Amino acid sequence: MTDPTPTPATKRKILFVDDDKFLLDIYALKFIKSGYEVRACDSTELGLKTLRDGYEPDVILADIVMPGMDGLEFIAMVREEKLASKAVIIMLTNQGSSEDVVKAQKVKVDGYIVKATTIPSEVLAEVESIYNRRV
Ligand SMILES: [Mg+2]
Repeated sequence: MTDPTPTPATKRKILFVDDDKFLLDIYALKFIKSGYEVRACDSTELGLKTLRDGYEPDVILADIVMPGMDGLEFIAMVREEKLASKAVIIMLTNQGSSEDVVKAQKVKVDGYIVKATTIPSEVLAEVESIYNRRV
């Protein structure tokens, strides 16, 4: 069930899952500077472990193309195991194809950001816009 009280941006927890460590660092820095508590995972396996260990993020920002379990399979597992029940889920990816959007909609994501065309400050603004729309 969704928490009816939105978490203020300064206390919001965000989980990043992306196999690109360079991007992970850039986004983590951007969100930490904006007052978020950030957990950055460079694999879906680590992301799942973090959630199974009880981390309850307000936002999950996950890449799609990753080795092993991809981002959409990761979200499907999160849904199946009822992890991160209050989290707004946003896919962050280079794949802008309609096929991926359809797959992302199947696992009920709240938003979709094409990272190739989006700089970190725009990612932050877009995450906040999607979060505020959802809650
Ligand atoms: Mg990737």
